[in-house]
Amino acid sequence: MEKRRKHQILFHRILLPVLLTLLGVALFFLISLLMASDIIAADAKNGKQDVECGFCEESMKIIKEEEEAEKAAEKARKIAEARGIIYLTFDDGPGEYTNALLDTLEKYDVKATFFVTGNGDDAVIKREFDEGHTVALHSLSHQYAHIYASVENYFSDLAGVSDRVKNITGVESKIMRFPGGSSNLVSKRYDHKTRIMSTLTREVEARGYHYFDWNVDSDDAGKANSPEVVFNNVVSRLKDGENVVLQHDVKPYSVEAVAQIIEYGLANNFVFDAITMETPVVHHSVNN
Ligand SMILES: [Zn+2]
Repeated sequence: MEKRRKHQILFHRILLPVLLTLLGVALFFLISLLMASDIIAADAKNGKQDVECGFCEESMKIIKEEEEAEKAAEKARKIAEARGIIYLTFDDGPGEYTNALLDTLEKYDVKATFFVTGNGDDAVIKREFDEGHTVALHSLSHQYAHIYASVENYFSDLAGVSDRVKNITGVESKIMRFPGGSSNLVSKRYDHKTRIMSTLTREVEARGYHYFDWNVDSDDAGKANSPEVVFNNVVSRLKDGENVVLQHDVKPYSVEAVAQIIEYGLANNFVFDAITMETPVVHHSVNN
């Protein structure tokens, strides 16, 4: 009896407090650990990485991958539900209206494609790239008489604009558009009857480029010279499926029409996207 009471006293006065203390300490460590991993995860999500450790890098990588997968799934779902895709494309820039155009695209969170030349500021091309648009190749000089006089001239001009883009963005673009489009007849004036467009269209593909013409012409390089006419030309030519719209960011009235075109597209169940190497190409028939 006496022995049992001694054991009870030992348990209540010594063992129990020790056990409770140990349990408390263990709980404290567990909670601290959970809180720390939450903070690390939150920091990783915010792009912060103050603490250098393999665990932080790993969790940041996983969160980024998950976010990208979510975004891609969301985009695929939107495209599947939409009437069609609109690829807004702008040739001949950058020019003095390109920054205003980028502001409009930013406002609506719409991505577009810029077929750039040797003109304009490097900073504008950098902005196009940094804001998630596709920077693609058009021509360094855009001089028909020079580029279509020989295959050699054409490719040295293309290499020039390609180098410019690579120097600014750090990325080599393999997406391009022929000045005048692949269907142009202007090349006939300068190519000494060599049917240069037939050669060039084959040769650019052999060199790994994807060339894009268009299937919605805003006619902003032709008769359309007001935002209203550019808008009407574009929206009246939209169809279900893929729409590659030709515009020029060196034409102020064309840039002015963009907000209205985007609002029309969104209200009519179209999605907007930038051209990538995965985008199905739109080609004209070659006439020379
Ligand atoms: Zn052009």
